[in-house]
Amino acid sequence: MKDVFDKLGESILSTVKEAAEQTQKSVDQAVYRTGLMNKKNELKDLYQQLGMVKYQNYAEGAEDPEHKRLYAKIDSLKKEIDEIEKQVDDLIKCQKDSFDTYKREVKTTWNDNMAQEVRPERGPDGVEIMKICNHCNTGNHVEASYCINCGNKF
Ligand SMILES: [Zn+2]
Repeated sequence: MKDVFDKLGESILSTVKEAAEQTQKSVDQAVYRTGLMNKKNELKDLYQQLGMVKYQNYAEGAEDPEHKRLYAKIDSLKKEIDEIEKQVDDLIKCQKDSFDTYKREVKTTWNDNMAQEVRPERGPDGVEIMKICNHCNTGNHVEASYCINCGNKF
């Protein structure tokens, strides 16, 4: 019995660790998205400048090398945007993977406990007392800190 709760404690510890990592990843994602937005705005500005330069060339009947400089800048900016978008995709995929792993681990712990018939404690009247998760209605051990089904913190 004690052993099972030690195991449960371990899984809660790793859940907390996981949550901290998730937070870090969410921050990373926000940073990427802000960077992406800035680059896209920069690209919009370049397109606008290009249009203006093209018009000036037309109006003055002159060939200005300025537009070639803008072409090069746009090319490299588009590459940067592609790269950031790829990194955001990887990050999202990685977050999804680690959440799936976390769910699998919680389920496995729950099944282990069921297999060992860990029952909630009995109150003085002999009735089993449980904490009912207000998130998913699963009955949990009275001392549980997290819902064994959905991970909700009590
Ligand atoms: Zn729950």
